[in-house]
Amino acid sequence: MRVRDVKVHFPIKRGILKRTVGQVRAVDGISLDIRAGETLSIVGESGCGKTTFGQALVRVLEPTHGSIEYFGANGQGTDIAHLGETELRPYRSDIRMIFQDPFASLNARRRVIDIIGESLRNFGVSDEREVESRVAAMLRKVGLRPEYMNRFPYAFSGGERQRIGIARALAVHPRLVVADECVSALDVSIQAQTLNLMQDLQEEFALTYVFISHDLSVVEYISDRVAVMYAGRVVELSDTEALFARPRHPYTAALLAAVPRPDPRRARTGAATRLKGEVADPANRPTGCAFHPRCPFATDRCRSEEPEMRPVGAAMVACHHSEKLDLKGVTANAA
Ligand code: SF4
Repeated sequence: MRVRDVKVHFPIKRGILKRTVGQVRAVDGISLDIRAGETLSIVGESGCGKTTFGQALVRVLEPTHGSIEYFGANGQGTDIAHLGETELRPYRSDIRMIFQDPFASLNARRRVIDIIGESLRNFGVSDEREVESRVAAMLRKVGLRPEYMNRFPYAFSGGERQRIGIARALAVHPRLVVADECVSALDVSIQAQTLNLMQDLQEEFALTYVFISHDLSVVEYISDRVAVMYAGRVVELSDTEALFARPRHPYTAALLAAVPRPDPRRARTGAATRLKGEVADPANRPTGCAFHPRCPFATDRCRSEEPEMRPVGAAMVACHHSEKLDLKGVTANAA
């Protein structure tokens, strides 16, 4: 997928006449490529726009601006950013989403065979015996017994429900899967099992993942590359190993410092789980670099001039001063 200058803005309406008085710039100009077969994680604090961006990629939302060129199995690119529902139909089975909440995302009044079978029926599998055999096969793939297909969601644990959610997404053999905080509602041990399952399925089905998460430990484990979002934009895009070994943007460094981990190579505060200061308001974005009110390195230039993404080392970074900064001492509370 080739994403160029994607914006998703929502109007703010007030009064009985519903006059537009401003706009929320939830996603504010993202450009990146998603490579076939990789896991690209999108990280950032709540409110940074990562879920909205994921919804734009799967076209649950139509971007206000920009292009999303999807390259199908034949290698041909199509800009799906502004297609109508009928034109989108051929791409709906290729690009699927796994949702965060395994309790809310499954209809409690439908049996598993109907939940997974619905995707198949929607994409043209009309023979009920074929639906049943494909649902059974999919359940086996995600480690559930096929005879469970006649049960309702309440009969399953959180981890099992998320497996059903994964089976539903993969039943129609997609190529790209956007997983939005898909393990964050699960216990840590179940998270690990679910991540391992997703990796196995990625290999088996040659899947590309866009993995949206605020949990950097999970991201480090599963990703090939990471895009760090702040205030609707990507501020750092890098290979996972390079990003965790040497973050190039002060926001990335502060996010990493907020993860408690016993690693003597990295300076950590150990206890903090939240960064100091408020996340930038997408309805009232700070001038210049949106991170400047929280950045310990901010200069006058940062307050007036918006940094563009540019190569710094092996990463792409949106920071005026990245090369000159010593980020080793950055803590979650330094901002
Ligand atoms: Fe900090 Fe300035 Fe870089 Fe923004 S551009 S992250 S304010 S140093």
